[in-house]
Amino acid sequence: MEQYIIYNAEHKVLICKEHKCGISPRRLDRHFRDDHQGVAMAMRKEILAYAKELPLCDPEQAPIFKEVRSVIHGLQVYDGYRCHYESCQFYTPTLGYIKRHCRDHDSEGWNSMESKFTNVKIQTWFQGNYTRYQ
Ligand SMILES: [Zn+2]
Ligand SMILES: [Zn+2]
Repeated sequence: MEQYIIYNAEHKVLICKEHKCGISPRRLDRHFRDDHQGVAMAMRKEILAYAKELPLCDPEQAPIFKEVRSVIHGLQVYDGYRCHYESCQFYTPTLGYIKRHCRDHDSEGWNSMESKFTNVKIQTWFQGNYTRYQ
């Protein structure tokens, strides 16, 4: 089973090793049924039984992207950008998004002469498609 999942006790999230993403407990069954067709049913059942015993948070409730301070083992690390605006906590792996995002602050009267964002390493509980922006 350790070849498929990692339990992160600090965040209480199950991480899929192959997809390098967090798995919502509600979607665990479907994730392995649909995205891991090579995994035998017996193994799937074992994983589900294992997950039942764990205190699990739903990663879908967590912030989308976070800056990497201490790398969460098993999750993909992305090159991304962080917004500089005051206490804004916006992260994204996409240059186009950060530019558009910073323009929104401009309309709030933000005329920073310095750069408006920096390159950072980020991680996300979610994989691949970047449709889940905050
Ligand atoms: Zn997976
Ligand atoms: Zn911002």
